[in-house]
Amino acid sequence: MTKPVRVRFAPSPTGFPHVGNIRTALFNWLFARHSGGVFIVRIEDTDVARKVEGALEGILGGLRWLGLDWDEGPEVGGEYGPYFQSQRLDLYREAAKRLVAQGDAYHCYCSPERLTEIRAEQQKRKLSLGYDRRCRDLNEAERKQKETEGITPVVRFKIPLEGQTSFKDVIWGEVTVENSTLDDYVLLKSDGYPTYHLANVVDDHLMEISHVLRAEEWLPSVPRHKLLYEALGYDMPLLAHLPMILGPDRSKLSKRHGAVSITEYKERGYLPEAMVNFLALLGWSLDDKTDIIARDELVKHFSLERISKTAAIFNHEKLDWVNGVFLRELSHEELLRGIMPFLESGLPEEVKRPVSEEYVRRIVPLIQERINKLAEAATYADFFFLDELEYDAPLLVGKKMTAETTLKALEAARDKLSSMESFDHDSLESTLRPLAEELGLKAGQLFSPLRVATTGRIAAPPLFETMMVLGKERCLERLRVAVGKLGNYL
Ligand code: GLU
Repeated sequence: MTKPVRVRFAPSPTGFPHVGNIRTALFNWLFARHSGGVFIVRIEDTDVARKVEGALEGILGGLRWLGLDWDEGPEVGGEYGPYFQSQRLDLYREAAKRLVAQGDAYHCYCSPERLTEIRAEQQKRKLSLGYDRRCRDLNEAERKQKETEGITPVVRFKIPLEGQTSFKDVIWGEVTVENSTLDDYVLLKSDGYPTYHLANVVDDHLMEISHVLRAEEWLPSVPRHKLLYEALGYDMPLLAHLPMILGPDRSKLSKRHGAVSITEYKERGYLPEAMVNFLALLGWSLDDKTDIIARDELVKHFSLERISKTAAIFNHEKLDWVNGVFLRELSHEELLRGIMPFLESGLPEEVKRPVSEEYVRRIVPLIQERINKLAEAATYADFFFLDELEYDAPLLVGKKMTAETTLKALEAARDKLSSMESFDHDSLESTLRPLAEELGLKAGQLFSPLRVATTGRIAAPPLFETMMVLGKERCLERLRVAVGKLGNYL
C-alpha cells in the first residue's frame, strides 16, 4: 500500500527566505496539492547561535503572500506537533540515548581545541577531513574518568568502518558511497541540542513524511541519514533533491544576480501569481515550451518526473516579462489596488498626498500595457501628478523639424486647444489632425512635440487619452511652459 502524501518545508530561521528556499516550499506545496496530500511547515530552529530576529515572520509572510497555505505547522497546529524543533528537544535526546544504548552512537569528550587541531593537521597533510574517532572505543573506566573531569560530551554516530551505503533519489537515481568516506558526525551537541541530521530524521519519521523534496545541496547528507534511519529502525521517506539555481553566469545564485529575499520581490511590485509561475519553472517544466501557467494548471500537472537534474538559471528579465504578462491580465480595479501603495510611497515628495484614487483610476488603463512591475507605475506615470516637468527644450524638436517650426506648431496647438469646448478623445483628434495638415506637417510631427510638452518625455501612453486625463487647463499650462522653453532656446 502506498503511504498518503505528507510533505514538509523545513526552513531554519537563520535568514530571510531567498528564491531557493521558496522554490523548495513551492514544489512541496504543488506536490501536496496535486496529490491531495498534506503540506507541513516545520521550523528547524535548533541552531540557536544562528537564529535571526524576524526571519520566521519573513518566511511565513513569504509563504502567505504566495498563497502557499500549510495544513500543519506554526499558527495552524496539527496532530504531529509541536512544529518548532526547539520544542521537541526531548524526542531527539531520547533517540540519541537509544542509539548510544544500542551501540550505534557514542559519547565523545574531545574538546573543540582538539578538533580544531585535528582539522588543521588533516588540512596540512591533505587528508580527508573528519573526526579521528578517538572516543569511539573508550572503555567504561576511561569514560568514567572523562565524566569526573566534568566534561559534557557530544553524541556521535558510529559509521560502519567498511561497506557501502546506497540510496535511490527520484531525480538522481541510485547513489552509492563508501562508508569509509563518511565520518562519525555529531547527533547531539554538548548543550543538549540536536544537530540538523538527528532532528531532521527523527521528525521526518514522527511526522510520517512520505517524500522529502529539498535542495540538491543536501544530497551528500543522505548516506548519513540512511544509516541513521536504519539504526533507529525507521523507514526512509522517498527522496527528491531539487536542482541548483544558478545566476545567468552559471555561478551560485546570489544578491549579485539581483536575487533578493522573497519579501523584497513583494516590495518591488512583483505579483504573487507571477512569482509562483516563475519559480515553478526553476527546475520543473510542463513541456519544453510553456512559459505561462496559471496556479491551478501547475497544481493539476505537477509531477516529480518532470523535475530536471540540470541546474536552473535564474533570469531576471524573464521574471519581469512573466510579471508583465500577469499584470496585464489584472482587471483595472485590481491593478488600481495594486499600484496605489506604490504611488503613495514612490511618487516624488512634492506630489500631494493622499494620491487621489479617482484620478489614478483614469490612469490605470493607460499604463497597464506599459509597465512590468507595480512599482514602475510611480516612475512611469509621475508626469500625471507633477506640477513641473523637467526636460530640455531640444527634446521638443522632433524629426525633420526645427526649433522654429516646432515653436510655431506648439503655439498653434495651444490656440486651438484653448478654444475647445469639450476635451475628449474625438474632439482632440478632430482638432489636432486637421491642424497638422494646416501647418503642412505630418500628424506625428505635431504629436511628438505635444507629447513632450504634456508629459516631459518621448515615450508615453497614447497622446489623446493622456491629454484627456491631464485635462484642458493642465495641458494649456504645460504648452505655455514648453513655448517659453523653446523661446528661450532659440
Ligand atoms: N533546515 C534545512 C534547511 O533550512 C532543511 C533541509 C531539509 O529539508 O531537510 O534547508
